[in-house]
Amino acid sequence: MAEILILAEHAGETVKKVTCELLTAARRFGEPAVVWTGPGAQAAQGSLAEFGAEKIYAADGPEFDDYVVAPKAELLAELAKQHSPAAVLVAGTAEGREVGARLAVKTGWGLLTDVIGFGDELTAEQVNFGGAINVRSRVRSGTPIIAVRPNAITPEAAAGPAVIEPVSFAVSDAAKQARVVERVVQERSARPELTEASIVVSGGRGVGSGENMALIEKLADSLGAAVGASRAVTDAGWYPHQFQVGQTGKTVSPQLYVAVGISGAIQHRAGMQTSKTIMVVNKDREAPIFELADFGVVGDLFKVVPQLVEEIAKRVG
Ligand SMILES: Cc1cc2nc3c(=O)[nH]c(=O)nc-3n(C[C@H](O)[C@H](O)[C@H](O)COP(=O)(O)OP(=O)(O)OC[C@H]3O[C@@H](n4cnc5c(N)ncnc54)[C@H](O)[C@@H]3O)c2cc1C
Repeated sequence: MAEILILAEHAGETVKKVTCELLTAARRFGEPAVVWTGPGAQAAQGSLAEFGAEKIYAADGPEFDDYVVAPKAELLAELAKQHSPAAVLVAGTAEGREVGARLAVKTGWGLLTDVIGFGDELTAEQVNFGGAINVRSRVRSGTPIIAVRPNAITPEAAAGPAVIEPVSFAVSDAAKQARVVERVVQERSARPELTEASIVVSGGRGVGSGENMALIEKLADSLGAAVGASRAVTDAGWYPHQFQVGQTGKTVSPQLYVAVGISGAIQHRAGMQTSKTIMVVNKDREAPIFELADFGVVGDLFKVVPQLVEEIAKRVG
């Protein structure tokens, strides 16, 4: 069985959830072989084994942290040349997509982005035009390079040996053009990261003010969810831009997306419509967001949300 190369996304030694999702997807099509860049492969071995990694190609040189994405693309190209994988999977994150695009340019292979699922023989389900159209696509030239959206695939454990194979790789000068000069650790709340959360609660203009976003936070906290916002909210300065969901914000695909006081403009939908279950609270029954809703409440959010929080609190404990 051919290998499927997977570029691991990780924060230090911690394997990001999307890597487990890629492993789960890869197992259907071949032997998952993780490409690990920088130090930490040893510490991550257990987590990668839990999700079925057959091998870990560990390239622990400092270049992968010191320079922006080019060394990773170069390494992937080299490993692909050596091992002739059936496909290369990257996370559909800003970094993963850029590495995938660079690899496609280097190899001349086809690249699919915004993939949210797979059919037989590496046919990919792909979201296009800001979510307006879903298509089934297949790479016809070379080895498929596929960028899979975080949260699109449910990670399923399946034990694998995760044998570490150290890789010594000399990064070229050409790949060292853009150096990382400083890293600033973003202040994090206790809430899950927006693009990785399995539940997201987002507030829209209907919330009425920045102070009222506390209501959205309260609902999010009762569900262990991340907080998101529409652009109307972030543009008004009611919530920081990094929490904007949509075409010009973050793309989320959680198990549950709760849209509160959001009308459902196409640009907002582009960032959330692949969520597995969508719940809506809106006082206007004609709001377009109801077209997407699995469960909708027509009502005033200032009445509905506190009741929801109360009900959740009762059930939780
Ligand atoms: C190029 C471009 C890119 C864009 N990118 C994005 C993007 O990334 N993300 C994004 O979100 N938008 C984006 N937009 C903006 C988008 O077009 C909409 O303007 C925006 O999504 C509207 O936000 P909203 O739904 O919060 O506000 P509105 O459209 O004003 O909707 C507010 C909703 O709240 C409801 N409401 C009001 N009061 C209550 C209440 N008390 N209880 C319950 N419901 C209530 C109303 O019925 C209404 O449906 C973009 C626009 C452009 C042109």
